Amino acid sequence: MALIVHKYGGTSMGSTERIRNVAKRVAKWARAGHQMVVVPSAMSGETNRLLGLAKELAPGKHTAAYRRELDMLASTGEQASSALLAIALQAEGMPSVSYAGWQVPIKTDSAYTKARIDSIDDKRVRADLNAGKVVIITGFQGVDPDGNVTTLGRGGSDTSAVAVAAALKADEALIYTDVDGVYTTDPRVVPEARRLQSLSFEEMLEMASLGSKVLQIRSVEFAGKYKVPMRVLSSFTPWDIDLAEEAKSGTLITFEEDEKMEKAVVSGIAFNRDEAKISVLGVPDRPGIAYQILGTVADANIEIDVIIQNVSKDGKTDFSFTVNHVDYARCIDLLKEKVLPELGAAVVEGDPRICKVSIVGIGMRSHVGVAAKMFRALSEEGINIQMISTSEIKTSVVIDEKYMELAVRALHRAFDLDQAPV
Ligand code: ADP
Ligand code: ASP
Ligand code: MG
Repeated sequence: MALIVHKYGGTSMGSTERIRNVAKRVAKWARAGHQMVVVPSAMSGETNRLLGLAKELAPGKHTAAYRRELDMLASTGEQASSALLAIALQAEGMPSVSYAGWQVPIKTDSAYTKARIDSIDDKRVRADLNAGKVVIITGFQGVDPDGNVTTLGRGGSDTSAVAVAAALKADEALIYTDVDGVYTTDPRVVPEARRLQSLSFEEMLEMASLGSKVLQIRSVEFAGKYKVPMRVLSSFTPWDIDLAEEAKSGTLITFEEDEKMEKAVVSGIAFNRDEAKISVLGVPDRPGIAYQILGTVADANIEIDVIIQNVSKDGKTDFSFTVNHVDYARCIDLLKEKVLPELGAAVVEGDPRICKVSIVGIGMRSHVGVAAKMFRALSEEGINIQMISTSEIKTSVVIDEKYMELAVRALHRAFDLDQAPV
């Protein structure tokens, strides 16, 4: 007997028919003797619908008081789907109880709309499990020290599931979704993408942080920190398939790097359309200039990603970096108001129509020429590279947004990702 956490995403919970299917699958696992905790997302479209209503009433509001209400609002989507799943399980003859985040409680900080989990109390859940119930815990939400409901950022139910699994020392967190695993790249962009049987935790962390939305990055961080075995698999297989077969399906995120992984130099390609480029041109090239620009941006809580500084000419240099779209306008205003006056003649330019495409693989550690191969593949397609950033197991380029799909396909081909590794 094992303690297993299942997570079901929005599409998997998208209708009463699908919720019934989830209930039948969970009941199958429970009847096989496992203790089951299930973390559902809101029904597909529901979070967007709720947030859209708020936007209609208060476009452009960003106060803490407003964000508090967004969390009150958005958390109801998961509360509804959790209760519906408990009802569906009871209808299958399976005792079940659902809890909202605050009832467990899942304690978080007070950063509304992107709160972080601090602790999870397992007492109530364990008592129910020991009483033979399936326990449903709402994804995406918790409660702050003052008793306010918080949410964990878009896609946050993945993180709820892994955090719950860590707190309960579960044997495995199974993330059921609308694809049958983690692919070499988003299969909706490259139909030739191939499902990976396993992927190292480090690679998954890079893929998620570089834009693969199949898992929220914090869920992977949790899995790494608490060594939670994690698997991504399909919720669309017939619910009554053989349990042992289902348990081995999908993609396993592993903490061990085996030989086969080393052979694949590049394991996957990630892309991100959420960033915008900002350049500060003609700044005096003297010590402290990077701090003057980026320090001011960081102090305003704006996250900076790729950074480049050009060689200087006549004592002047150009400085470019990327930020998330949501911070773009605020960042430009900030630079114009606070930084430019102090820098003399510098100008700020922005380009929101860029994207970042990245290749990821632990094999890159031991192979040379991987980045060069990436640049050649892009040049053969006539794609201009605006910025480059590398680390041990990834290389990212910033390019014009309109070439994103072309670039991803070209790289997928160049690194033979459509073919199984030999
Ligand atoms: P859920 O609602 O179950 O959380 P998401 O939409 O958040 O599902 O995540 C699943 C989606 O992630 C897939 O439908 C797919 O389009 C996208 N995706 C992006 N990159 C990848 C990848 N490398 N492998 C698999 N799916 C990916
Ligand atoms: N319902 C939330 C969202 O749409 C959380 C999730 O699905 O993981 O972002
Ligand atoms: Mg998701």
